[in-house]
Amino acid sequence: MHATATIDMVDSISSPATTGQPIPQAILDAAAIAAYIAGNSWPTWDPYIAARPDLLLAGRAVSITLTARARARCFDIETGGGSPAEAPGWYHDFADRTFGLPWLYTYASQVQTVINMMSAAGIPRSDYLLWSAHPSGGRHICGPAAYGTGHGCGYPQADGTQYGLLPGNCDISIMFAYCFAPLPNPPNTEDNMLACGLNAQGAFHVFRENPDGSIDYGIQAPGANGWSGGVAGQHVAELKPFAPKPGS
Ligand SMILES: [Zn+2]
Repeated sequence: MHATATIDMVDSISSPATTGQPIPQAILDAAAIAAYIAGNSWPTWDPYIAARPDLLLAGRAVSITLTARARARCFDIETGGGSPAEAPGWYHDFADRTFGLPWLYTYASQVQTVINMMSAAGIPRSDYLLWSAHPSGGRHICGPAAYGTGHGCGYPQADGTQYGLLPGNCDISIMFAYCFAPLPNPPNTEDNMLACGLNAQGAFHVFRENPDGSIDYGIQAPGANGWSGGVAGQHVAELKPFAPKPGS
């Protein structure tokens, strides 16, 4: 999977409705959150969504269930929660696809078992996202080239990894940005414009930075009022050159 844009995601069990504590500051500040909607004694989904309706609307709030018989975007496979064998059934009958592919969460050491269970049920790896828990490997996403550290962590490729703790009894994860629905790109402004220029044919090209850190560009042909040619979500290295060099 070729991707480098990432988004930090925070989860916790703390809230006034669950542990009698304030909603953690890290949740209030998060770019993305995950919260329990079913299956345990800490249903943080409702209080967190009440506090962060913006993340729900943006597809950056991930609902988690610990039971295989509840609707959520993510099935939590761990001791006291779901089992690898339950993953295919949950995936077919309960996974919430409103904001994209279903997620499976499990220990890094159990990821291969989950992949094998899904594969045996005819569900290819490309049809779901894997959120691994690997707290001893530093800030990384599990895989043969462990994004963030540059060397393999010994576990299969994940789409994001829960790797550490934040104050307020919170977990921190780093997720590839494709795990979330893309945000609509804002209009070009002086604040998000990185570079601009006219090519040899007189077309105006603008590079801009999006809220998720990706870079795209737009082209305005000579005499045109609108924009075309934007390539949302692609990095500059993947974009084609502006135009033939003058005189070439
Ligand atoms: Zn890892």
